[in-house]
Amino acid sequence: MCEDKNSMRLEMENLLKRRFFYDQSFSIYGGVNGLYDYGPVGCAIKINIINLWRRHFILEEQMLEIDCSMLTPEIVLKASGHVDRFTDLMIKDTETGECFRADHLIEGYFEKLLETKDIDDEKKTEIKQLLPQIGNMNVEDIQQLIEKYNIKSPNTNNKLSEPIAFNLMFSTSIGPISQTKDYLRPETAQGMFVNFKRLLNFNQGQLPFAAAQIGNSFRNEISPRSGLLRVREFTMAEIEHFIDPIDKTHSKFDTVADLEIQLYSASNQINGETAQLIRLYDAVHSKLINNETLGYFIGRIYLYLIRIGIDKNRIRFRQHMDNEMAHYACDCWDAECKISSGWIECVGCADRSCYDLTQHTKFSGQRLVAERQLSVPKRVQITERKINSTIIGQIFRKDTSIVVKYLENLSENQAHSLHEKLEQENEKCTINEKEFIITRSMFKLETKEKIVQVEEFTPSVIEPTFGIGRLLYVTLEHNFKIRPEDNQRKYFTLPPLIAPYKCAVLPLSVNAEFKPFVKQISDLLTQANISHKIDTSSSNIGKRYARCDELGIPFAIAIDFDTLQQPYSIALRELESLKQVRVKIDEIVSVLQDLATEKVTWNEIFALYPIFTEQQTKRLEN
Ligand code: AMP
Repeated sequence: MCEDKNSMRLEMENLLKRRFFYDQSFSIYGGVNGLYDYGPVGCAIKINIINLWRRHFILEEQMLEIDCSMLTPEIVLKASGHVDRFTDLMIKDTETGECFRADHLIEGYFEKLLETKDIDDEKKTEIKQLLPQIGNMNVEDIQQLIEKYNIKSPNTNNKLSEPIAFNLMFSTSIGPISQTKDYLRPETAQGMFVNFKRLLNFNQGQLPFAAAQIGNSFRNEISPRSGLLRVREFTMAEIEHFIDPIDKTHSKFDTVADLEIQLYSASNQINGETAQLIRLYDAVHSKLINNETLGYFIGRIYLYLIRIGIDKNRIRFRQHMDNEMAHYACDCWDAECKISSGWIECVGCADRSCYDLTQHTKFSGQRLVAERQLSVPKRVQITERKINSTIIGQIFRKDTSIVVKYLENLSENQAHSLHEKLEQENEKCTINEKEFIITRSMFKLETKEKIVQVEEFTPSVIEPTFGIGRLLYVTLEHNFKIRPEDNQRKYFTLPPLIAPYKCAVLPLSVNAEFKPFVKQISDLLTQANISHKIDTSSSNIGKRYARCDELGIPFAIAIDFDTLQQPYSIALRELESLKQVRVKIDEIVSVLQDLATEKVTWNEIFALYPIFTEQQTKRLEN
């Protein structure tokens, strides 16, 4: 079975390379690990996966899509925690210098050990218990495992170095004389947090709302060796759904509540159990899933994965264990898909509480908060800044606006400490490399009592994060097939919405009489926005069908001798069943439009149109 899976994977990967779905970048110079270029077919599938994502999430939920800069100044990633903590443990072969990701190296070593007969049952149990924890171990734990099991460099058997934390971000500098270290973004999320105030205003100050962003992110993975699954530059699609932390219900939870989904809870993992099929309603109401909004997104993610062609029986949601979850997160589930090499995380879905907005408030000095209406108005003490621009103007003249802006932009803490200092003496401030003496008459804080109808709070955020390359790979693997009657004939049963081209246009032969029909049909399809691939080469039609099948083109139009007769018609064939119907040229656009947008199924078309087995005209000619 395992052999089978691996040989299917090899067959598929050969095809993907041969037909340039995607391939290693810069390969004429030897290639670079972890960088891939998408060819025409991969590119079309990727766009379709993204378009469906936009429709399924952004359109359906009225999300606010934005497109932010990939170059990111250090302060932003300092605030988010990436500068200090976005690391993987790296280990080196002490002789050759080859680098490995420590957890992957040890996992690989243990998995091999489990397959051998060299270890007893007790050791096996110990290793099985260790395996799920390795990804979250610190330097000391990893070093201990290496020593205890005497783990060596896999290819050379050389000694391994001690593990070190390696930051995965690509650093750069913005501008020719930048003083700081800047970075290529490692995720798209930060762009949505730093724009929170603008987005909230755009949404008339109302919560909940979601922002979304699709774009490339960069991670300097230590030793990427798994094709598209682990790369150094990849497209992410992320959602930040902002909610009031005291109300995490979701108005549309009912629409997904009855879905039954494989949930692999933290306790299942600790107890060595498998995932359980659980109704989302029960999972949320028993508090297995922390709240309705998180449950809602798990349901929506599940439906999306199925829509892009991932096999529903090979999807599970795995809950993060306590030691794996960021300290601020209150619950996190990864959508994992089973492929030939095992389970792979394709989507993360986390309740990150109010961590991100709190951090950016702290680092930027800007209050990233929303307001909620109070049921009963309340009396509060408020502190206001009194900046006397008249006195500032008399003293600093043309620099007045610089000083006023400086005082306005002080954080709460800075404003308080300046106020206190000015009680004792004047304060010397450096603004834009120039010194200014600030006096009590220019700046003070005044505290007053006020009755307020609203109160401020920092919103929580639920964050679903999708890796588009992984989704594409899984979709391809789940839909790759070989015809039982001929192992040379490989094809993909992609859903029409995802397929790179919606149909093929194939004249029976190079006969000149077919040419005007090829053009007519192609023009009709182009006008209707239906992507199609014409193959007018001289190979026989069987070969050309096979070539289109390899690209996962779900429908094929054959132009034959019957096409030349009134009423002009074509043979329309479906990829998997190989069945054909006869459709008049006048009707082909509407039939294909409905098939391509999944408004109708092939079975419905098959029931509606005359079945086609062989050409009438050709038979007469023969
Ligand atoms: P993370 O932010 O690490 O939870 O990653 C979010 C999603 O991005 C994952 O679920 C993957 O689908 C994808 N992803 C993360 N790292 C990589 C990588 N190196 N290569 C390809 N996809 C990745």
